[in-house]
Amino acid sequence: MVTTGDSQPTKHQEVGHKSLLQSDALYQYILETSVYPREPQPMKELREVTAKHPWNLMTTSADEGQFLNLLLKLINAKNTMEIGVYTGYSLLSTALALPEDGKILALDINRENYEIGLPIIEKAGVAHKIDFREGPALPLLDQMVEDVKFHGSFDFIFVDADKDNYLNYHKRLIDLVKIGGVIGYDNTLWNGSLVAPPDAPLRKYVRYYRDFVLELNKALAVDPRVEICQLPVGDGITLCRRIS
Ligand code: SAM
Ligand code: CA
Repeated sequence: MVTTGDSQPTKHQEVGHKSLLQSDALYQYILETSVYPREPQPMKELREVTAKHPWNLMTTSADEGQFLNLLLKLINAKNTMEIGVYTGYSLLSTALALPEDGKILALDINRENYEIGLPIIEKAGVAHKIDFREGPALPLLDQMVEDVKFHGSFDFIFVDADKDNYLNYHKRLIDLVKIGGVIGYDNTLWNGSLVAPPDAPLRKYVRYYRDFVLELNKALAVDPRVEICQLPVGDGITLCRRIS
């Protein structure tokens, strides 16, 4: 175990720490060298506003925002969905990546937090790409699955909401994403808790959702309908490319 001189665990080992790298210094190096200097001004502004919010632990990190933005451009995404918006950092990184006529269906049970980021999204000139719907995602997905016009209609779907529903989302999203399209499941390394010993001191919510994330990872690993790659970016993101 890596400790400081006085045998205190380093920050790197704190539950909730976003980086899975060897050290905080290395993560900071990435942020300062490759991420912050290129972070679009509206994303910086939204990151700073979100940092003052009491639930700021939920936000997407700047390196993951950069990753999503580049990924969407690489796959030429035009029609996307996001489940779990919070103040909108990943949403803004998506909106900035899409072409002018691109669309994002953005779902969250909480509009209030979205409205914190909305003025910045509007100022960035990308609000017209976003169709925000307040409410639980699952019933809306069920409605969409009922309607064949939505089948295979999404190029990219980012899932960053209630982890106990990820497998329920997957059952529906697999019909809604196009063949060759990508679903990204966020937080699939779940604060590193997946490999913590049974008696490890975990925060209550981390312990609660851990089994659901373990189940998700197991299910995705054997799902023949997708190719996958689990990346240690942020708190872990598993990309699933639909192949059948
Ligand atoms: N992607 C966001 C970002 O970049 O800041 C972070 C999303 S945060 C981790 C999770 C969000 O999921 C919260 O805003 C919460 O309100 C939302 N959420 C929780 N349960 C939900 C549900 N059943 N349907 C839709 N959204 C839900
Ligand atoms: Ca997340």
